[in-house]
Amino acid sequence: MYYTEETVVFWNGEFVKAKDAKVGLYNQTMHYGNGVFEGIRSYDTPDGTRIFKAKEHYDRLHYSAEKMHIQLSYTSEELETITYRLLELNGLKDAYIRPLVYLGENMSLTPTQDVHVVIMAWEWGKYLGDSMLKVMLSSYQRPNPNACHVQAKVVGHYTNSILATTEAKQKGFDEALLTDIHGNIAEGPGANFFYEKDGVLYTAPLGNILSGITRATVFEIADELDIQVVEKFFKPEEIYTADAAFFCGTAAEVIGIAQFNDYKFPLNWEDSNSHMIQRKYKRRVAFNEYRNVYL
Ligand code: PMP
Repeated sequence: MYYTEETVVFWNGEFVKAKDAKVGLYNQTMHYGNGVFEGIRSYDTPDGTRIFKAKEHYDRLHYSAEKMHIQLSYTSEELETITYRLLELNGLKDAYIRPLVYLGENMSLTPTQDVHVVIMAWEWGKYLGDSMLKVMLSSYQRPNPNACHVQAKVVGHYTNSILATTEAKQKGFDEALLTDIHGNIAEGPGANFFYEKDGVLYTAPLGNILSGITRATVFEIADELDIQVVEKFFKPEEIYTADAAFFCGTAAEVIGIAQFNDYKFPLNWEDSNSHMIQRKYKRRVAFNEYRNVYL
């Protein structure tokens, strides 16, 4: 349940009941997928409700909008202030926040100046759950970076994600792992991927993946823990030599992977550096975003 009779959203400049917000049938976003969005989390910390890396998320929303020629009239700071008010109005502390910038009536393939900003929030558990995952190599690849802006969080890109996750679930897996157009491992449908070998973490470089804010946080945490992280292109076969692996993203946080296709990662999750990253990530977001204050 995403909303109730009482839920308030920020929509077209004001706070209204979610049930009263109406979207037109001729909107470009609905027909062609041209819209941009974010996925953000707030946490109930000892300092009060804190939105984790709000500026980074809203800056990325601006980046996405710019790439898609969408005029976004609010600054990141304004959007952050609005989001805190939205949480307050809904009595939410630990929440998932979904800003969406969608376009109005336009059936042609050109952008429109009719831009709508909506921000919604609801309580949402970890997107991929709390249990170690069974992941399959997808038969789908991530979108071609020469065909679209893969570092932008565009509504239409998520049809690829839906196909990949659906295929994985139909085959009895929890989630998919996708390659890029050159057959290197890229990322999951809604999370970045890391594997661990001899204590070192490996992940795909930017270029074919979303530049995840959680991915960047993993880099920061690894640095603090003196864990080496290497960005490089690698083929799926390389994962069969790994000790451990995980997905990370705002909605999923950091979640361990038990199995990739039929390969079971040999290292006990609790003994891995990946697990240390997972624990520290949880503490980072649940206390506050400032380094080492409560750690
Ligand atoms: N890759 C994709 C395709 C995603 O949708 C997400 C979720 N936004 C991520 C990675 C992780 O990004 P973040 O850590 O910024 O949530």
